[in-house]
Amino acid sequence: MPARRTHTRNDWLVVGSGLTGATFARCLAEEAGASVLVVDQRDHIGGNVFDSLDERGIRVQRYGAHIFHTGSADIFEYLSRFTDWYHYEHRVLADVDGQLVPVPFNFTSLDTLLPERSGALQQALLEAFPGTARIPVAQLARAATPQLRELGEYIAAAIFRNYTAKQWGRPIEQVDPTVLERVPVTLSYDDRYFRDEFQAIPAGGYTAMVEAILDHPLISVALQTDGATEHQRRPDARLLWTGRVDSFFDYRYGELPYRSLRFENTPGTRWRELPAAVVNHPGVEPFTRIIDHSYFAAEPTATTTLTYEYPAAYERGQNEPFYPVSDAISTAMYQKYAALADRTGVLFGGRLGDFRYYDMHQAVGRARTLADTVLHGRADPRTIARSIRRSA
Ligand code: UDP
Repeated sequence: MPARRTHTRNDWLVVGSGLTGATFARCLAEEAGASVLVVDQRDHIGGNVFDSLDERGIRVQRYGAHIFHTGSADIFEYLSRFTDWYHYEHRVLADVDGQLVPVPFNFTSLDTLLPERSGALQQALLEAFPGTARIPVAQLARAATPQLRELGEYIAAAIFRNYTAKQWGRPIEQVDPTVLERVPVTLSYDDRYFRDEFQAIPAGGYTAMVEAILDHPLISVALQTDGATEHQRRPDARLLWTGRVDSFFDYRYGELPYRSLRFENTPGTRWRELPAAVVNHPGVEPFTRIIDHSYFAAEPTATTTLTYEYPAAYERGQNEPFYPVSDAISTAMYQKYAALADRTGVLFGGRLGDFRYYDMHQAVGRARTLADTVLHGRADPRTIARSIRRSA
């Protein structure tokens, strides 16, 4: 990292150097001339988008595969200030009882798994959902005709039931339906994982992009630094906290639930060893997917590294909180923390600070909105929404 001027007095303290913290710091430094100290408890910047070259020279994303995608030209252009892109369209296959089929489930998946009935089912789908590109599997399972309801059940069983139970550590019925809606059924042969106009991976990796975002004379960065301690040392600095919101308040209403992951890396033998960048395993094996990192490099590499992804219970201090687990109890608990947060004057953001399942473009968008509220004296739209709900 380039040497930075360390400011003795900072206008802002940003806890967490992931996409949210870095983007916010950049906006404040650049647009308000604020001096910002960004601290992170880890020994690297970038939060969960951190990547680095491993011993085989393969760029590996240490916290799981991240593929940038957005429909927002504005957000894509913003990040393009900090990186060149490898334009990459993500495709995923699932191993269903030994047959590899596209996920999201599409017409190719139908042809492969139900060859006898595929034509009739495609026609029925197009008639039942005219002009619709993708539908949630739950909607299919509630379709008007028994034929389509049965198909919905079939897809749920083949692709979602085991995978979701493994991923979330609870039966599919107890998982927030919006989580499954992220991977709807595609009513065509389109086999892209995302349909967004902008899909890409930073050509030099995510870490280099975040480094460029933070590379501003008014921003200093301190790694392996505890955010709460730093906050106490700097009572005059305003604070953006992208760590866990419950930890900020010493867990006074209880611990918000998270799901964790364990990654097992193994050497591959050749470039693009797997038939797709990600192969999902919706069966009974304990891992959910295998990632072939060589797909994410702009240039062919001599070999590859494969990562097996194992979902795991989250245990504070033992592993990383990756996914907020959203249900009625955790939402009610989060609302109490959010109400407390509104009264502190501290800003919260990111997956952990907002207790939300953000994609990268959403994290960047949220950080810019937060910066906007500070720069232009507007209230945080989330706070306004909450106060309207409370007074209703
Ligand atoms: N999912 C599934 N089978 C798949 C892919 C996804 O059951 O083959 C479900 C699973 O519950 C997962 C959710 O859909 O948590 C969202 O998938 P996504 O790929 O968006 O998860 P992420 O990449 O964020 O882990």
